Amino acid sequence: MRRIHLSRAEIGEVEERYVLDALRSGWIAPLGPHVDAFEAEIAGRCGVAGALALSSGTAALHLALLDAGAGPGTVVPVSTLTFAASVNAVAYTGAQPVLIDAQESDGNLDVDLVLEAVDTLRGEGAVVPVVVAVDLFGRCADYSRLEPGLAERGVKLVEDAAEALGASHGGRPAGGFGRSAALSFNGNKILTTSGGGMLLSNDEALLARGRYLATQARQPVPWYEHTEVGFNYRMSNILAALGRGQLERLDDMIARRREIRDLYDKHLTGVSGIRVLGRGGTDRDEDDNCWLTTIVVEGPDRDPTEHQTVADSIVGALNTAEIEARHVWKPMHLQPVHRHHRAFLTGASERLFERGVTLPSGVGLTDADVLRVIDAVTAHLEGVR
Ligand SMILES: *Cc1c(COP(=O)(O)O)cnc(C)c1O
Repeated sequence: MRRIHLSRAEIGEVEERYVLDALRSGWIAPLGPHVDAFEAEIAGRCGVAGALALSSGTAALHLALLDAGAGPGTVVPVSTLTFAASVNAVAYTGAQPVLIDAQESDGNLDVDLVLEAVDTLRGEGAVVPVVVAVDLFGRCADYSRLEPGLAERGVKLVEDAAEALGASHGGRPAGGFGRSAALSFNGNKILTTSGGGMLLSNDEALLARGRYLATQARQPVPWYEHTEVGFNYRMSNILAALGRGQLERLDDMIARRREIRDLYDKHLTGVSGIRVLGRGGTDRDEDDNCWLTTIVVEGPDRDPTEHQTVADSIVGALNTAEIEARHVWKPMHLQPVHRHHRAFLTGASERLFERGVTLPSGVGLTDADVLRVIDAVTAHLEGVR
């Protein structure tokens, strides 16, 4: 049986055309016209003044945090339910990450909790320059409440929009919130350059300083002159060309992921014992980019202690059926590398980790593939009921 993958990159004829152009143009030594054009196109798409193409989303977060004043002697509240990069980038700066729990409905940052954390930390005399909010699985955090709450407190916001290109919140595109935002174009993200990222901001000075730091902090003189330690963080012209090809197809790719989400929703919402993350109740997901669809095992018809066993067994059963499925991000406060950090917790992210299963969501899936996944999930649930 053909294996169904979680989120495979689809590279088409448009991408081939762009990359070939980059190769033939002679712009191999890393920067070039595709980098400038890719930056302008993404900035336009995300409704920000400018963008800086980088080697990874992690690099973008690192530069965003340095700009926002994260460093030794400061503390930075950050979502605990995320990929390690969000918290690693805080650690690179020498700041202390403080891990903040999620809201149960969609796994995004618990806004009341993070504001309470800022007040508590400040009350203890800590310096809290910035908060990092992650847009989980392609859905924006609740910026309608987070932005004013942080502004009131004079705390900056960095948006980790690595998973959220093409999503929006309250009519504003992901990547446009906060003082700056980071995108990722890693291999399984909704738009890929095989590896890459971008720093977005409305502040030209921030971007200019980021550009300088990302090119080894080289001074603008005719020889190699450096007055501080920089980084090698720029994106190459060839990868930017690939990104431009992908960007031409972004709307189609999001539309396909949404169809896949709708198909899962149609067949799995209402199945007793599970819900589709971010769907149902008062939740809306029309603003998601639908990067990954996740189901959560729950319901009163089962002892809560069994939810995790059931989620584990779904992942196992799908893998046996040649279907790649994954657990939700393991929260950072449970990770050996980050568990010593201070945390403000409600239990929500742990429950989502224990009970969540991320289903195949790539644009290359056919409806028949998705139905095969749905059948495997429902058949397995019948068996364990
Ligand atoms: C992928 C990802 C990153 C890191 O991006 P890279 O391009 O892999 O460095 C950061 N944060 C989140 C939430 C991500 O999913």
